[in-house]
Parts: sequence; C-alpha cells; structure tokens
Amino acid sequence: MKKISIAIDGPASSGKSTLAKILAKDYGYIYIDTGSMYRALTYMALKEKVDVNNEKDLDELLKKITITLKQGKNGQQILVNEQEVTDEIRIPDVTNNVSTVSAHKKVRVTMVKLQKSYGEHGGVVMDGRDIGTVVLPNAQVKIFLVASVLERAKRRFKENQSKGILTDFDTLKDEIKRRDFLDSNRKVSPLVQAKNAVLLDTTGLNIAEVVSEIKKIVNEKRKDF
Ligand code: C5P
Repeated sequence: MKKISIAIDGPASSGKSTLAKILAKDYGYIYIDTGSMYRALTYMALKEKVDVNNEKDLDELLKKITITLKQGKNGQQILVNEQEVTDEIRIPDVTNNVSTVSAHKKVRVTMVKLQKSYGEHGGVVMDGRDIGTVVLPNAQVKIFLVASVLERAKRRFKENQSKGILTDFDTLKDEIKRRDFLDSNRKVSPLVQAKNAVLLDTTGLNIAEVVSEIKKIVNEKRKDF
C-alpha cells in the first residue's frame, strides 16, 4: 500500500502531537513536529541574545545553525548543531517567544523548505499550523484539531505537572489565548483550516476516541492508493 501524507493542524495544546505520534507509530510513518523547529530557533535566539523582533538577524541565525530531527528511543529528539535541545525548547521563555519568531516571513520560507523536503516521499505525519495549507498542500489526509481553551489549559497543566513544572492555571490559559491570537492573526501563513481539512473538536473526547476517528478517515483514503 502506497504511503500517504497526513497533515495535522490546530491551535496550541489541541492534542496534535499526541495524536500524530500514535498515528505515525501505528502506520510505521515518520512523525515530524514542525513546532519544535520554530522552538529550536527561538531557543537559539534567546541563548545568543538575538532580538526576536528582528527578522534579518533571526534569518541570519537560522542560516548559521543546523536543526535536525532524529527518531530516538524515547520519541523524537531535536538537535541544534548536533547538540540535543529536546527539553530546552519546552521552557516557558521559549513558549512565550516562539509565536513572534514564527511570524517572520524569512524564517518561514527557510523552515517550510526544510519541512517540504521531509514530506516529499509520503509516509509522514506532520503537525503544525500551516501543514495542510502551505507545507503539504497535497496531503491525502488533513485534520484540523480544535478544543476549548479551558480544556487545552487543563491538558497543558497536567502535562507540566507530570514533568514537575508548577504553573499557575490562569497564566497558562492566558498564554494559550495569546499564542492562538498571534498564530491566527499573523500576515504570513496564519493558522487557518485548509478547505479540504476535516475539523475535529476534541473537547471532552479521550485520545483513543480521536485516534479511532482519524483512523477511519485515513483508512478510507488509503483504499484509493
Ligand atoms: O506546536 P507548538 O505549540 O510546539 O508550536 C510552537 C509555535 O511554533 C506555534 O505557537 C507557532 O507560533 C509556531 N508554528 C508555526 N507553524 C508551524 C508549527 C508551529 O508557526 N507549522
């Protein structure tokens, strides 16, 4: 059976990466977390004291560094210049600056080129904000995941708790709303549902229910290949 491409888009903490990982594992596909690439650049910008509002400087930094995604034993690892930064890119400082970094056109041009190259042979589950619209416009399956802000904040709160990170619940809610706003209102490839994407509202659903829903869509599509 020919391998297809699956694009999963949606706002922060809508469950994209959890689902994408499960689908990739079950189908034997490669999982590409495109958000981690924008996070890696943001992490480096903060480390190197590059202004996150300065498009030119960020572009120069991006062209100087090498961002690599690697399938490790415990899931996907992200490396910058061969040094692992998988945990570092999840710190609040990176989360709170990543939407500013990802809004710059030059940054997106370089990232999208790299992401397209990962997806060109199919057999990939890619998640992000512009996968179905820009990165893989010909993906055979496109899913747009949404969930209420309250539900997403609860998920993020639990996830942080399990990692031993203590966060104020209302602050988390505000951060999610702010990131939604920035990602949905930027000029270059904002977060929007692709015309042919299937909208799935995961509020109140558990992971198994959403996986089963998506698999029905995928299996239908795979019959044609
Ligand atoms: O998916 P995650 O929440 O880790 O993404 C971090 C940020 O990276 C998003 O808030 C968004 O600003 C940016 N992003 C993007 N386009 C993508 C993936 C992520 O602009 N395809």
